Amino acid sequence: MVDTDLVVVGAGGGLAGALRAAEHGLDVVVVEADEHFRRGNNTAMSTAMVPGAGTRFQRAAGIDDSPARFLADVEAKTAGEADPTVARALTAVSAELVEWLADGVGLPIELPVDMDYPGHSARRVHSVPGRHGSSLLRGLLDAVTASDRIDLLCPARAVGLEVGDAGVRVTVEDPHGGREDVSARAVLLATNGYGADPGLVAQHVGEIADATYHGSEFARGDGLRLGRSVGGADGFLDAYQGHAALSAAARTLVTWTTVMHGGVVVDADGRRFADETVGYSEFAALLAARPGARGWVVLDQRIDALSQAFGDYRDVAGSGALRWADDAEELAARLGVAPGVLAAELADAAAVARGEQAADRVGRTAVEAPLTPPLAAVEIVPALFHTQGGLHVDEHARLLDAAGRPVAGVYASGGAAVGMSGHGAAGYLAGNGLLPALGLAVLAADHLAGVRPAPALQEVHP
Ligand SMILES: Cc1cc2nc3c(=O)[nH]c(=O)nc-3n(C[C@H](O)[C@H](O)[C@H](O)COP(=O)(O)OP(=O)(O)OC[C@H]3O[C@@H](n4cnc5c(N)ncnc54)[C@H](O)[C@@H]3O)c2cc1C
Repeated sequence: MVDTDLVVVGAGGGLAGALRAAEHGLDVVVVEADEHFRRGNNTAMSTAMVPGAGTRFQRAAGIDDSPARFLADVEAKTAGEADPTVARALTAVSAELVEWLADGVGLPIELPVDMDYPGHSARRVHSVPGRHGSSLLRGLLDAVTASDRIDLLCPARAVGLEVGDAGVRVTVEDPHGGREDVSARAVLLATNGYGADPGLVAQHVGEIADATYHGSEFARGDGLRLGRSVGGADGFLDAYQGHAALSAAARTLVTWTTVMHGGVVVDADGRRFADETVGYSEFAALLAARPGARGWVVLDQRIDALSQAFGDYRDVAGSGALRWADDAEELAARLGVAPGVLAAELADAAAVARGEQAADRVGRTAVEAPLTPPLAAVEIVPALFHTQGGLHVDEHARLLDAAGRPVAGVYASGGAAVGMSGHGAAGYLAGNGLLPALGLAVLAADHLAGVRPAPALQEVHP
């Protein structure tokens, strides 16, 4: 007997799939393992940056953009290594997704136009006021609660999956070991990746294994295991999002906005070591390789004021983690680095900002403005935020087997699926986490409801 139309495993980005399915008249059961998911999953921890290419918010701001332009940015950032099917599907649906979050879910979507993100050739990264994922998740959850078609089982961890002609059967376990089966027409695996499993991290993304893990404690690779158990194939397991700017003291994101507005990163010796504008994800491994695996973001009052738009930055500043000084010499003393070294690094970047040289010593060509005293520095450590590889899916988020055939009734999204970042850390563009989390979930729900019919492909029933 089929209990429901769709089981969504994981109440992060998967909630978008639950809402979309309910909107199409389907009944949904969401199973969530973590009773603290409202603040503990990655969607809640994020900065809520969701890219959309060609939205009405962009048009209102006079920004010209298109899915083709976004796809070209993804291809450039990943050196052509992103899964082409997923990258194409997600860039194509991105504008519709962002507008649906506003109109269908009721989120107060806005388009920050105060800064550029590394690798995005247009301002297309949308967010919510306060730029924090807890607001995004709360909005999704409020809509779920208001829907009489969606039931949320929590805490309930999916531990087994079977696929048959009549649909799927998901075995869920409560924290005391009690088990029950939920049968459905389909299941969406939205469990995130394996960042919380140190063994898998060491095996697949060893270069960041010693960094701080700053993501969902329930990202234990369950989706990967469940998908594999029904014949699903996987790939890009070496892909991850790192971040170079986790506050060492506050354990909160300093945000890369500090750098994009003209801040610089120095290591524990006060030396810069790479062009910060390449991207915060790959910068994590670069910082991890420096002496002591820590460093400092140096900024000034102008950057401090601009960064206050981010709740995370406000938390870092409010925690007292910023060390202020009247000039570079005093700042060097406060950081315990050689004054001449720090002053020379800042002067080098300032010369780029003033147009006196095309690039500085580390090759940076874009510095918004020279850093102007008083100066501040915040100590940073590299972090692993989430893994990006996972189950192979098609343009409808359907799980694929090794021969590329869809596994009947099984979908995957977010960190559980392959994503669009290619290999390693360098392919990560801002938004490459939430777009696959929300976008693949929506595409799955649309496909299950028959709204986006699939081309005639033979499904497999393992
Ligand atoms: C600090 C930070 C900032 C970030 N900022 C951004 C950003 O601005 N933009 C962006 O695109 N990305 C960002 N990311 C990445 C983004 O948060 C993730 O890529 C995205 O949220 C992943 O969504 P998900 O649904 O796959 O996972 P999650 O949101 O983690 O949800 C998965 C859920 O599944 C549950 N679960 C796991 N296993 C089971 C099981 N067996 N049974 C039941 N439930 C289970 C978990 O408890 C969890 O609640 C950021 C990440 C961090 C850490």
